[in-house]
Amino acid sequence: MCGIVGIQAQSSVASELYDSLIHLQHRGQDAAGIITYDFRMHKEKGLGLVRDIFNENNMNLLTGNVGIGHTRYPTHGGFGHGEIQPFWTEVPYGVALGHNGNLVNYKELAEEITGREKRYLNTTSDTEVLLHMFATALGQNGSAKSDKAFFEQICGAVKSVFDRTSGSFSVVAAIVGKGLIAFRDPHGIRPLSRGERKSDNGSVDHIFSSETTMFHSLEFEPKGNVEPGEVYYVSESGKVFSKKLVSEEFTPCIFEYVYFSRPDTMMNDVSVYRSRLRMGQNLAKRWIEKHPDVLPDIVIPAPSTANTAALSLAYELGVRYSEGLYKNPFIGRTFIMPGQAERKKSIRHKLVPQEIEIRDKKVMIVEDSIVRGNTSRQIVRMVRGMGAKEVYFVTACPPVKNPCFYGVDMPTRSELIAAQKSVDEIRTYIGVDILLYQEIPDLVEAVTRKGDHNIDRPCMACLDGWYVSGNVDEEKMSEMETMRLNDRNGH
Ligand code: SF4
Repeated sequence: MCGIVGIQAQSSVASELYDSLIHLQHRGQDAAGIITYDFRMHKEKGLGLVRDIFNENNMNLLTGNVGIGHTRYPTHGGFGHGEIQPFWTEVPYGVALGHNGNLVNYKELAEEITGREKRYLNTTSDTEVLLHMFATALGQNGSAKSDKAFFEQICGAVKSVFDRTSGSFSVVAAIVGKGLIAFRDPHGIRPLSRGERKSDNGSVDHIFSSETTMFHSLEFEPKGNVEPGEVYYVSESGKVFSKKLVSEEFTPCIFEYVYFSRPDTMMNDVSVYRSRLRMGQNLAKRWIEKHPDVLPDIVIPAPSTANTAALSLAYELGVRYSEGLYKNPFIGRTFIMPGQAERKKSIRHKLVPQEIEIRDKKVMIVEDSIVRGNTSRQIVRMVRGMGAKEVYFVTACPPVKNPCFYGVDMPTRSELIAAQKSVDEIRTYIGVDILLYQEIPDLVEAVTRKGDHNIDRPCMACLDGWYVSGNVDEEKMSEMETMRLNDRNGH
């Protein structure tokens, strides 16, 4: 998973790109980068957190009124410095590109590019493949003089990317001397929002970003989304062009609502915060239906993604909401830390149980999801260790049974506890008296009940095994799982 942002403004964009990346830090903590341009490109990238990569010295070198930024958590490609986005190429014009998503047909495309097209790929990142495809098509599509004609040239290049690729991709790109572009895959699996800011002289600045989290602080007004299959071009002179090039079923990732996005984001015209409240309401209904005679003394979220669902669940059950697990805010979320060993080590550092809230009580723990099961098991152990009388475990997400090939790190079936065990076996494994999973229709209802959205059906391939790109069979699944493991192991 990654966060992307592109800004075109009337003044230097570097500090606003930096602020944006801080507001997208939760989408990737492995690496970050910014590329701006004026008469030439300026780049700064590094491994680690945004605040550790950029400083006054390197920020001062990022001059220009157009630029893009990226925060990375790798779901494709390795973990080294060479894989940090944005990527760039000198031909044609000078194109810098940042991408959130995953190309399912990466292997075939990489073979085409290195074979038939005789290009050298420097990394195993699918973003490099995307950049090559886009830049090559842009170079072949003419040399337009007017902004309008250049937009047609861009449309041709993006259409050829749509035609060749399968998978998920939201993209921002800066083209030297030309401006900013943004496009989103035809199914809109990964998010891409859009905003504008009017200045006193009537000029308009533009932002495209994975989430709207920075809009308020940077005073951008939300203007909806880049629609699935749509491309935007903001020319250097500030003219805006957009076109929907392909129409497919709109299937945005449901896991963005469950876990990944910041709650204050409006995603695909649905409030992430409100959708989480509705997840808690639906869980309460199922709990009452299935366990009418069992009521906990307190409801404790596994902080912090589950806080919102736990709040409404406790309210609906008429039970006290308790912050019985304190989260150290200076330790990253375990789900997005590479490697099991680090994850196991970090949970005890990250969460501190409050005995005074737990001892001798029937405790309901609420978690956003159970992916590998280790975190849940350790949390339960901690709560039992603090003297809980009974422990119930409720999760806002249905069982995660399948790998994601669209940009979220849950890549192999062997790592997914729900792909290996039944619900009752999981209950025994994590060590609770009652385990309640959200049901798929209830989750979909929670996400789509409100909001002026046009979602056809969310992507839920990790839950129900239906991959919208249609080309994920057993063979493809094994190929992708092996590739991911190789990336992780540095092969
Ligand atoms: Fe999101 Fe799951 Fe679809 Fe991946 S498979 S895009 S995590 S809903």
